[in-house]
Amino acid sequence: MTRVLPHVAIDGPAASGKTTVGRSVARRLGFLYLDTGAMYRALAHLALRNEIDLDNQHALLRLLEQYPVRVELDAESASGYRVFAGERELGPELTSSEVTAAVSIVAAHPLVREKMVEQQRTIASRGPVVMAGRDIGSVVLPDAPFKVYLTASLPARVERRRAELQAKGIDVDVHRLAQELAERDALDQTRPTSPLRVAPGAVEIDSSSLSADDVTDEIVRRVKSAATA
Ligand code: C5P
Repeated sequence: MTRVLPHVAIDGPAASGKTTVGRSVARRLGFLYLDTGAMYRALAHLALRNEIDLDNQHALLRLLEQYPVRVELDAESASGYRVFAGERELGPELTSSEVTAAVSIVAAHPLVREKMVEQQRTIASRGPVVMAGRDIGSVVLPDAPFKVYLTASLPARVERRRAELQAKGIDVDVHRLAQELAERDALDQTRPTSPLRVAPGAVEIDSSSLSADDVTDEIVRRVKSAATA
């Protein structure tokens, strides 16, 4: 019999708070955490570094063979997981503006997604995880007992991303940031394979006027009450 693990799937648009909330929900529940966007970002980084055409799916697959993208869940690390491309561990390069601008193009390729999803499911088969992304509740873990679609208005998401970047000493033009977030969401929502959408059975939470702690409390409360129902 297949073991049903109490995974929590969190999907939602860019900068909706999935990472902050996902990580603290995982800590509170004693689960491991994986932000699947980091895997697509790792491939986008590799493609840019090796000057591979982002539209060339087969070249991207060859790149993945040469430098397999691998994640290790590690509750002790700041992000909750470690990402490797080949032997090399990746860090801040994953969130560079170049990678952010390229990632949705790379993530739209169906065979690229197949490879990533296979690894995500293997990770989930080992123990309870909180997994964040765009297709977790709909494709990666459709049987997850608890699914959240976390959203927030565009202005709220822009403000969060702006503050996050400013804390790192990066000044951004908010109009450009809004445009970038909206464009990435549009690409993620309209791609034919595994588009971003509300998964069947997902609880929708609009975090526009909620703090990360409020959202965490709400999710933990709901997960616990679903588990005892
Ligand atoms: O979550 P994050 O902003 O890091 O994700 C970067 C990109 O990776 C998304 O905009 C999307 O194109 C892609 N992604 C995806 N499926 C996932 C996670 C991320 O297509 N499960």
